[in-house]
Amino acid sequence: MKSVFIYSDEFGKFKVSKDYPWLTERSDVTYRRCSELNLLDRDWMKVVKPRTAAIKDLYTYHTKEYIQLLRKADKGVFEESMLIHGLGTLECPAAKGLFKYHTLAAGATICGADLICRKKADTVFSPTGGFHHAGPDFASGFCYINDINIAVKKLLNHRKRVLYVDIDTHHGGMVQEAFYSNPGVMYISFHESGKTLFPWKTGFETEIGKGKGKGYNINFPLPENTGDDEFLWGFERVLPPVAKAFNPDVVVAVIGVDMMFSDPMSHLRLTNNAFVKAVGMIKECAPELLALGCGGYVLNNIERSWTLAWAAMNGLLPVEDESMTFGGMFWGDGLSSLMDRPHFSPEDIRKKTAKEMKRVYRYIKKQIFPILEIRR
Ligand SMILES: [Zn+2]
Repeated sequence: MKSVFIYSDEFGKFKVSKDYPWLTERSDVTYRRCSELNLLDRDWMKVVKPRTAAIKDLYTYHTKEYIQLLRKADKGVFEESMLIHGLGTLECPAAKGLFKYHTLAAGATICGADLICRKKADTVFSPTGGFHHAGPDFASGFCYINDINIAVKKLLNHRKRVLYVDIDTHHGGMVQEAFYSNPGVMYISFHESGKTLFPWKTGFETEIGKGKGKGYNINFPLPENTGDDEFLWGFERVLPPVAKAFNPDVVVAVIGVDMMFSDPMSHLRLTNNAFVKAVGMIKECAPELLALGCGGYVLNNIERSWTLAWAAMNGLLPVEDESMTFGGMFWGDGLSSLMDRPHFSPEDIRKKTAKEMKRVYRYIKKQIFPILEIRR
C-alpha cells in the first residue's frame, strides 16, 4: 500500500470573510488531527505538498475567457459581466486570492491523479478538493474550478476506467454532465433530493446517462430526514454490485460531510458512523483511490469525519466489538472518540424515508442493473 495525504498550509491562509460558509481551514484541521493521532507516520504513507495547477490543465475543462475573468476577480475586481459566469455572487464572490486558492486546490487533485498514474500512490486523500458545481464557464455553490473533471480527464487519457462515487449532500451536476455519454466513467451519486436542496434541477434517478453512456450514471436522491440505516441500506445495495460489474481501475470519491444531521446546509440526519462505513465500502471496491473532500460546513465535523475517513482508507479504524458497546462502536480515546453518538429519528419519519429509498432502489434495479448485467 502506498498512501498519500495531500496538504498545504497555504489553503488555510485564504479568507473571504468571517461569515463566508466555505471553511478554508478544512485541510489544516484534518491534517493536524491525523498528525496528533499518529495517522500520518506509517511506513506506507507520505504527505505531499501540492503545486498550483498548470493553466493548460485548467483549459482541458474550462474556457479561456472564464479563466481570464477569474484572474480579474482574483484582484477583488467586480464587473457586472461576471454575474452571468456566476462570479460576484454571495456564494462565489470576486474575492482577493481566489485564483491562487482554487488553482492550488485543482493542483492538489491533479497531483493525486498523477501519483496514481505514475504508480507512486494507490490511495490519495486531498481534503481541499471536489468542487463539483463549477461549470466550464461559470462558478457555482462555492466552486470556481472543477478539479474533478480535470483529474478524471487526465485519468481517462491514461486509459483508466473511472468509477466516480459522490456522497456529498449536494448533487454534483457538473461532473455528471461532463461524462454523461461516456461509458468509461461510471457515475454514482448519493445526495439529498433536488426537491428539497440545491442544485434543485439535477440528480434525479431518471438521469441515467445517454447514448453509449446510458446506464453509466446512477443518481440516488435521498429524501429529507434520511438517517444512517436508510442511507446504508441503499448504499450497500448499489455500490458493491455496480463496482463489481464495472470493474474500475480507479475510484474517484467525493466525500463531503454535509449530509450530517448537525450540518446547516442539508436536511439529512446522518452521523459519521454511516459516513465512515461508506468510505470503508468505497475503499474496498477501489483498486486505486483518489478521495476528495468537497462540502461540509461545520469545522468540527470536517475534522473528525475526515480523520476517520483517512483511517478507514488505511485500514486503521478500531475494530467494532458488539459485546462491549452500544451499536457496536466504542467511544473511548483516540479515534473512537471522533465518532458521533447515534442520532435517532422518530419511527414515522424512518418508515417514510425507507419507503422512498425502496422506490428509488427499485427504479435503479429495473432501469440500470440490466444494462450493467447485474442480476439481483
Ligand atoms: Zn455539498
